[in-house]
Amino acid sequence: MSKILKQVLEANKAYSNDFGDKADLPMPPGRHFAILTCMDARLDPAKYAGLAEGDAHVIRNAGGRASDDAIRSLVISYKLLGTREWFVIHHTDCGMETFTDNTIRDLLASSLETATVDENGWHDTGTGPGSTEGDFIDWLTIADQAKSVVEDVRRIKEHSLVPPGIPVYGYIFDVKSGRLIEVPEATQAGKARHKTSAAA
Ligand SMILES: [Zn+2]
Repeated sequence: MSKILKQVLEANKAYSNDFGDKADLPMPPGRHFAILTCMDARLDPAKYAGLAEGDAHVIRNAGGRASDDAIRSLVISYKLLGTREWFVIHHTDCGMETFTDNTIRDLLASSLETATVDENGWHDTGTGPGSTEGDFIDWLTIADQAKSVVEDVRRIKEHSLVPPGIPVYGYIFDVKSGRLIEVPEATQAGKARHKTSAAA
């Protein structure tokens, strides 16, 4: 058994021994909100946003981007499970800023082994063959953190399956301080819009 597999199963045993009344949690998130954020190992949404089991949905992918699949999860989150407020949280020093579509496509075409990175960028040192399948994926890389948060909040807000009444807040998590820093332009774009009466 791999060392990691053993460690994970041991940790899980300890966790489940202390599971207690979490067995009775309902499926819908008790605090009615969802967070879309990056998979980066330094980010722990339960800690940075104060979540306990049962509180909120956390949707994660590389970059915390509003991909079609992230939107699929958000739509299920409100339509079937009742969330009413959403966060898009990207972060400083994101790996998605270190490459472009062409970079990763070239690396994958060269080999399927783990690439290396230095001050001159990414290099492939593996032995091939690689694959050109990467050419058909939009990798959703990030050139500017604040801009990517605004883009993603805007894409979610403008999506035809997202009701206008859900506010979407845009933030950047600072990996040096643990703080959430607002992206005002994103929060502005993400404001809930309510139907106004004819007289208003
Ligand atoms: Zn990241």
